[in-house]
Amino acid sequence: MKMARLFFTDQYRITLPEGHKFPAHKYGLVRQLLQQDGDFDFVQAPVISPEIVELAHDPKYVRSFIAGSLPAAAMRRIGLPWSEVFVQRALASVGGTLGAAHDALDAGWGGTLGGGTHHAFRAEGAGFCVFNDIAVSIRFLMNKGRISRAAVIDLDVHQGDGTAEIFFNDAAIFTLSVHCHRNFPFRKQQSTLDVPLPDGVADEDYLLRLSEVLPRVLAFRPEIVFYQSGVDGLATDVLGHLALTHQGLIERDRMVMHATRDSGVPLVITSGGGYSRPIELSAQAHANTYRTAWQVFCADEAPGESIASDTAPAPA
Ligand SMILES: [Zn+2]
Repeated sequence: MKMARLFFTDQYRITLPEGHKFPAHKYGLVRQLLQQDGDFDFVQAPVISPEIVELAHDPKYVRSFIAGSLPAAAMRRIGLPWSEVFVQRALASVGGTLGAAHDALDAGWGGTLGGGTHHAFRAEGAGFCVFNDIAVSIRFLMNKGRISRAAVIDLDVHQGDGTAEIFFNDAAIFTLSVHCHRNFPFRKQQSTLDVPLPDGVADEDYLLRLSEVLPRVLAFRPEIVFYQSGVDGLATDVLGHLALTHQGLIERDRMVMHATRDSGVPLVITSGGGYSRPIELSAQAHANTYRTAWQVFCADEAPGESIASDTAPAPA
């Protein structure tokens, strides 16, 4: 059976005050669920150097965060308390996405159980996001001459405002954000294509809107697509106002994966947000995204491979 590898960062355990909204233990839960499947190898995401992060961020911001010397107001916007382990986790989170991007260029797709920290702007963090892993990875691959055009498909329930700001007016990058309009961030940025949805949108309408806009991303002819696959559009999410189901999210993921695979564009999968109560519902939805990727990229590509060894002789 074909194995796929996924990067992880859940060994960095950040300590949070009682009742904090950030679901720190979700990442370990997702890995546990996927470990039971036996289809994946898990690789520790490499801690990336600050110089690479500075390809997409203000060096002063990067150095201040790492040193723990950001002003209190800037840390409040990030919404998580500073610690050494948080710094390691933030750098590894970018490393996981960059590792997955290399896998995608080599093998058609790559995944990391984290990343998608799309509220990180060039010179400040926000909404649990410190560094914009997708933006850094795109800048890195462009600097190395590996790609000249890229696209971001951001389906988190919140707008990918940091990504939109970093790539604003950059003709080489297409940013799509499909999000709930009446939700954080309340001051929206301008993506290449924004699809603001009203509260309460359910599977059928959501998938219809997505199917209408995906062709525009592919018409841009990106050489790689980064997928922010946030699952906070689930009906049970406490920070989203949409009404999607687990099955709806699976179909959403499949739509993105088929579209990129059938166009021959490498796909990088990052997790993004998920804040359901109980959190196991989000973990399950994230796990489904990677399972769907395995089916689309690993199982479909060799039809019959697993059947061939145990089927009966050819019919007479
Ligand atoms: Zn979100």
